[in-house]
Amino acid sequence: MNDWIAGHSINAVLDGIIFLTALFSCVLLHEFGHVFAARRFGIRTHDVTLFPIGGLARLERIPEEPRKEFWIAIAGPAVNMAIAAMLFAGLFVFDGWQPISRMSIDSGSLFERMLFANLTLALFNLVPAFPLDGGRIFRAILAAHTNYSKATTIAATLGRSVAVALMVWGIFANPMLLLVGLFVWIGAGQEEYSARFRAALSGVRVRAAMVTDFQRLQARDTLAEAVRLILAGSQHDLPVVEHGRVVGILTRSRLLIGLAENGHDFLVEKVMDREFMTAHPSDMLNDISTELQKWNCHTVPVVSNGRLEGLLTMENIGEYFLIDTALQERSPGSGLLKGGLKGFWNSHGSSAILVIPPDKPLK
Ligand code: ZN
Repeated sequence: MNDWIAGHSINAVLDGIIFLTALFSCVLLHEFGHVFAARRFGIRTHDVTLFPIGGLARLERIPEEPRKEFWIAIAGPAVNMAIAAMLFAGLFVFDGWQPISRMSIDSGSLFERMLFANLTLALFNLVPAFPLDGGRIFRAILAAHTNYSKATTIAATLGRSVAVALMVWGIFANPMLLLVGLFVWIGAGQEEYSARFRAALSGVRVRAAMVTDFQRLQARDTLAEAVRLILAGSQHDLPVVEHGRVVGILTRSRLLIGLAENGHDFLVEKVMDREFMTAHPSDMLNDISTELQKWNCHTVPVVSNGRLEGLLTMENIGEYFLIDTALQERSPGSGLLKGGLKGFWNSHGSSAILVIPPDKPLK
């Protein structure tokens, strides 16, 4: 570290810090482009995360039309294009003409490098491959002409091809590209899986996937009874019933805390969660699945007219998906309970990737 500092003047270090800060600000602004576009369609954002190689905005909900996905996806690169245009105009007015071909990420003034970085950010993210913004734009355009599953498969296949090309290129040119290629490869697979998952669940009601053979507790039962039921079966969370109505849920983590603090003679009603989410058998499976993920909840009691009819768990939703997929493979278009993979899916999040060449220290 001392050697490194000795080799660089304080100015160079400061310059590097300013450049990196400006670069990450541009990535953040890119993500906020998505956030504001999503908000225009009434979709809020959970959070924005900045990674060493880019950013990610997690949208609360899935846009329902390709037109919306198109605008949300294009808003990110559009921000970088706008920043680049402003920098270009500034450089042109105050500095005279500067051919873009002469610019690079590690030479020229701060503004020139930022111009180059923003152009790179915009163009790279516009590559039509999942999970890049360009992949979403491409899928949205395809989805207008074919169905969503097909559009997603094509965009994901292209994403994986781009990933392989990046990794091969990375071997010869820049090891950082290997990492970016890997990111694109994993991202494309996740997007495709997620799309298939949502398509399989689309149009399906909760009652089709809920557990109907399950154990329950009475509010006045002891924790010992809960332990017996959990050890005897494979249920993690137990609904608690009083006079036929669900009054709480005893999750495995609550049970463990209760046992550690009070022992097994303690009453269930003193440990259980009294505030919990419920579903109706006719609720849409996709909606409840999204809620489960959003609240990091594992089990939801399914209640109709006050009566406990079943439990919906993440595992059972996963099993429903696997069974539906198997039936689809046997005869495409059949599916588990409906006429095949219909419905649609759009982005959970969006990402910007930036590439900082590690073999060229900031000067
Ligand atoms: Zn983006």
